[in-house]
Amino acid sequence: MKMECAIAGKLSSTSSYLVNTRRNGMKRTKLMANHNMFYSSKSMISLPILAHTNPSLKVVTEKLGCPADFGFGELVWPTPGDEIPFWKNKFPSRYASLEAPAEIEKDSNLMHIIHITAEMAPIAKVGGLGDVVTGLARACLSRGHTVDIMLPFYECIQKQEISDLALITTYNSYHDGNWVATNAYHGVVSSIPVIFIEPSNQFFKGKNVYGGSYNELEAYLFFSRACLEWMQVTGVQPDIIHVHEWQIGALPLLYWDMYQSLSLKKPRIVLTIHNMEHYGECRQEQLSKCGLDGSIYASVEKAIDDRTIGHNPERLSLLKGGIVYSNAVVTVSPTYLKETLCSGWLASVLITHRDKYFGILNGIDTVIWNPATDAFLPAKFHAQKPEGKKICKYYIQKGLGLKSEGTVPLVVCITRLVAQKGLHLITHTIKRAEELGGQMILLGNSPVHWVQKDFEDLANLHNKGTSTRILLMYSEELSHMLYAAADIVLVPSIYEPCGLAQMIGMRYGAVPVVRKTGGLADTVFDMDDPSNHEKANGFVFEGIDEGSLNWALDRAFRHFIGSKFCLH
Ligand code: ADP
Repeated sequence: MKMECAIAGKLSSTSSYLVNTRRNGMKRTKLMANHNMFYSSKSMISLPILAHTNPSLKVVTEKLGCPADFGFGELVWPTPGDEIPFWKNKFPSRYASLEAPAEIEKDSNLMHIIHITAEMAPIAKVGGLGDVVTGLARACLSRGHTVDIMLPFYECIQKQEISDLALITTYNSYHDGNWVATNAYHGVVSSIPVIFIEPSNQFFKGKNVYGGSYNELEAYLFFSRACLEWMQVTGVQPDIIHVHEWQIGALPLLYWDMYQSLSLKKPRIVLTIHNMEHYGECRQEQLSKCGLDGSIYASVEKAIDDRTIGHNPERLSLLKGGIVYSNAVVTVSPTYLKETLCSGWLASVLITHRDKYFGILNGIDTVIWNPATDAFLPAKFHAQKPEGKKICKYYIQKGLGLKSEGTVPLVVCITRLVAQKGLHLITHTIKRAEELGGQMILLGNSPVHWVQKDFEDLANLHNKGTSTRILLMYSEELSHMLYAAADIVLVPSIYEPCGLAQMIGMRYGAVPVVRKTGGLADTVFDMDDPSNHEKANGFVFEGIDEGSLNWALDRAFRHFIGSKFCLH
């Protein structure tokens, strides 16, 4: 099977601190004439929002000693008391880089790839899965491949974020003895073609991507079959069906054991595992609801969860089934590949299928994550014009009521608050950053009630001062601003298949402090490690104790204060 091109589109990781946006002399002159916001002197900071763009904001016009005329009228800094939170502001895009993207070489063996996924950024994103699917689709498109994404039409998707939305097919797909009327829509999201699958039952209804009041496992079983059924009905036969995570793990079984004997012959199946912690536990009779005979898969060679053998009932794992039945299996970093071959209950099936198992490092979507053009930033910046970064930091400090000082290191941590992410190390850093005279902002959310409650208590304790903010919510806009404001981005995970926060942080000029595990070990190299001098880009620790974290964080602070990496 021609695997190379299917996976060749995975993005390369970003190892430099800021995007290098080289442009020719003529273009540069034009850009500067139009966008006279960048001042190199500390005493000249431009004020980023036009008052008339958001009249509800209090006009404070702190001028910081800068010249009065910036060429774009009255300007406003946010305050914590603003009626509309500052991250909801719309910023003029006039500072955006006008640079055309660099010419990307086209692949020679062009294919049609359909990604089938539970998440897609930015319209249905919960974590890195959504980011990676969008970034990977864009990378493959730019190399000349034909790419579509198939996504459940979640009720929570904001339709105004979809261009050219149109109903393309109405058909029936099977679930639990019935044929469910289903709509397929076509639309474009962030320049990527998407096919939305909308069943007429209760599946995918609710305020969020996950956690609706329907059976999630059965909904994704339905979705997996509905995607193949759509291909069957329309005659669309891509070269590659690229499925992601446990949610789509039953599709390879359905493909080989059902749809191959119908009309689908051409596609080959690639499964990407973004996080092996979620393995899609499924009872035989649940699998049978998608029309397969669940009992056929209850063997060690197929889909049984080995740990449940001899239990009553024994359970299946959709992820394991997906591994066995896919033509190729990819995970998201070389180190995570090694880790998963050595530990965890899925190691034995991965070893059995070692020849088709690849570890390919994720990258970030450099269109969505670009500080030179990012619509969420009050000031844009890039490697040749880094001054906008300090405006972003000042803006965030003002908006959150932190002490506004450029010389104080600002640590940012943006994460799902789950055990994997090193919760005790995150809470420790809140304390440690303060002890070291720095600031810390945590943006996170937990699906676990007691974890959320613990962090609410911490927020009540710390948010009154001027050095810490714990923000318990999900906000795409605020996350962009925080990466832009950060001096240090913290990722202290206990395990991390790849991790995107450290790469996004680097793209936005923040230095990562990370634990050496999974993809963090593949993307961050310690500044003080002489064997890695060429690649050095952050601070790395190994232990899971607070002392180990201190060792890395303290060094990061020392480097910052010694102006080794700060931008002022
Ligand atoms: P995971 O997929 O395990 O959550 P990753 O580091 O691979 O971790 O990706 C996390 C993505 O989700 C990043 O884009 C990060 O910025 C984003 N993210 C996590 N928590 C939040 C939040 N509370 N608000 C906004 N974005 C978040």
